[in-house]
Amino acid sequence: RLGAPPSDGICFFKPASNTQALRELQLDAALRQALSRGELSLAYQPQVCLGSGAVIGTEALLRWHSPELGVVSPVEFIPVAERTGLIATIGLWVMHEVCAQSVRWREAGLPPLRIGINISPVQFQLGDVAASLDQALQATGALPASIGVEITESALVQDSERVAATLRTLQQRGIEISLDDFGTGYSSLSLLRSLPIDVLKVDRAFVSDVTAAPESASVTRSIIHLAHGLQIRVLAEGVETEDQLNMLVASGCDQMQGYWFSRPLAADAMAELLRAGRQLPVHLTRRRD
Ligand code: C2E
Ligand code: MG
Ligand code: MG
Ligand code: MG
Repeated sequence: RLGAPPSDGICFFKPASNTQALRELQLDAALRQALSRGELSLAYQPQVCLGSGAVIGTEALLRWHSPELGVVSPVEFIPVAERTGLIATIGLWVMHEVCAQSVRWREAGLPPLRIGINISPVQFQLGDVAASLDQALQATGALPASIGVEITESALVQDSERVAATLRTLQQRGIEISLDDFGTGYSSLSLLRSLPIDVLKVDRAFVSDVTAAPESASVTRSIIHLAHGLQIRVLAEGVETEDQLNMLVASGCDQMQGYWFSRPLAADAMAELLRAGRQLPVHLTRRRD
């Protein structure tokens, strides 16, 4: 790597982008084999109710351990899979695996909880998300009430009417709909009114600001207030400190997820946490404003 291109905008070599293009080719080739070789897995991060302190859900997060490339973050390989279309196949695997895991936990006698599945905008373009989820539910015997989907606003850029119709279908079946990464990008509040959204997930970037900047705290309170007016619950993502937690509880936030409570866990460790009944300490869930 020879560094960034000169700032005058003239650039004869693009070493950085060539390196990136090579890396993408390499990732694409390796990712094509990752599924059949069993290199993909899911990690589960608990979601906690701020009213009761109980774990009420968990988000499924893809993990890839490639023998050749080592551990590759989804932040890097999901965009590649989206560009090549491979996300369609990977997405089906995730749906199936989440449903199967839900049944395994139910059969193991663990307390019921909802597992959230991240759905890429590209999956809405390439396939029928509702039909795919139906198929995964049927094949495994999982219950719609044990499943949620997380979408981002970018899913609505193309053919938003069709996506909205799909979301309504899912919601009618009892699958919970979350709007992910709210507060980044062009989050528009009018979307909340026009879409069947059950939960608003406030992005980590926003949460990390709440204790630093007083304006952020008041924006957060306004968002929560507005969401509640529309019967939408609010989950704060990426909560890392007790100060953030206190601030969110005082603002009336409904749920949280973040390293402060737990990092994403392997399925077995997640089951262990559920079995042990781990909760948020009660003194932290009470509103003190
Ligand atoms: P996301 O859906 O917004 O997931 C939350 C990300 O924040 C996860 O990163 C999680 O590990 C991380 N996180 C949670 N709590 C904390 C915290 O307290 N501090 C910090 N610093 N980070 C926290 P991860 O697992 O690397 O996933 C990144 C993104 O990759 C996800 O963002 C999602 O957009 C995508 N992704 C992951 N799994 C899937 C999948 O199965 N399908 C699709 N389409 N996308 C996925
Ligand atoms: Mg998510
Ligand atoms: Mg998110
Ligand atoms: Mg995010």
